[in-house]
Amino acid sequence: MKVLVLNSGSSSIKYELRDSQAAAVLAKDDISRIGEEDGVADHGRALESILEALVALGGGPLKDLSEVEAVGHRVVHGGSYFTGPALLTPDVIQRIEEYAPLAPLHNPPALLGIREALRVLPHTPQVAVFDTAYHSTIPPKAHVYALPYDYYERHGVRRYGFHGISLQSVAQGADAMLGGRLPELKAVIAHLGNGASVTAVDGGRSVDTSMGLTPLEGLVMGTRPGDVDPGALLYLMRELGLAAGDVDRVLNKESGLLGVSGLSNDMRDVLAAAAAGEKRSRLALDIYCYRLRKYIGAYAAAMGGLDVLVFTAGVGENSADIRAAVCEGLGFLGLELDQDANAKARGVNADIGGAGSRVRVLVVSTDEERVIADETAALVMRGR
Ligand code: ADP
Repeated sequence: MKVLVLNSGSSSIKYELRDSQAAAVLAKDDISRIGEEDGVADHGRALESILEALVALGGGPLKDLSEVEAVGHRVVHGGSYFTGPALLTPDVIQRIEEYAPLAPLHNPPALLGIREALRVLPHTPQVAVFDTAYHSTIPPKAHVYALPYDYYERHGVRRYGFHGISLQSVAQGADAMLGGRLPELKAVIAHLGNGASVTAVDGGRSVDTSMGLTPLEGLVMGTRPGDVDPGALLYLMRELGLAAGDVDRVLNKESGLLGVSGLSNDMRDVLAAAAAGEKRSRLALDIYCYRLRKYIGAYAAAMGGLDVLVFTAGVGENSADIRAAVCEGLGFLGLELDQDANAKARGVNADIGGAGSRVRVLVVSTDEERVIADETAALVMRGR
């Protein structure tokens, strides 16, 4: 089935045209700078230009737009309601709208993309695939915050978790490398990109994850601090007169690797600066790796063991140094790295555990668009 996968952001739409049975990418591109002076006017115009490119004068991958059999939209927040992909109906769109305040940077642009796609392809079935759905198996003891219960029940304040589409892709990749045994194992998957999270997967199901109500909790990220004493923020609000908007900016844009190093949010820059002797970059890396190691230990304790550790996304797939630093000191879990295999693993799936390691250590590349195309095709086939 030919599926158009759309990932709509505030100023960009990424798309891939996929043949889901053949697992092939027929076309892909990124329309950026939407709404800016040198870009297209709006999301509607961006989608029209995508469709034009797909059928471009017979030179595109499609002869006719009717060959697009389904559209799959990436939607970050599906709240507690969506535990899997959903065919887009007016009701479903309204639900996604209701969850917009929980993901103000992500759900509104996704909705723009959805509305415009329904306008330009009104007869094509369209599906929303949610990042939060993968974590719908996390039990209450791990998803309820110990705040007054009313905030949970009436306001939906709870851990939702993110990166679910990526995790699904990586779990499938890991399962293939483990000979189909992931559903019997206790795994920890570290998704280390610009945003970073770590997830405990027990018997093939997410049982805990480091991101929470928002993508701020947990690991150190490019510009986000991860776990911080909420009292520290109250202190800054009182002492420096920071308003909610200021705290939002500090937490989302000025912290993490950038905040500590004072140099960059990009892991490559921070690694280079630390290697050249920059002390604060060294410290930023130490905090980054230490935090992740603590989470791996915590999740091993939560699951009562650890069989597999998986690294994925930009940092996880490419940085042997970070993987080595994170794994250092995890020998007590029976985890050993094969230093050579680790040094060589870059952007490809690899088994980097040592010969005597009780824990398998894998590098698995993530492919979110494949999961969106597969889930969309499966749901549309079921409805036929
Ligand atoms: P996003 O979350 O935006 O999808 P990615 O998964 O592409 O991000 O990850 C981006 C991060 O990966 C950046 O911090 C970048 O520095 C890092 N990265 C990419 N290649 C390497 C590398 N070779 N070594 C270390 N870090 C890398």
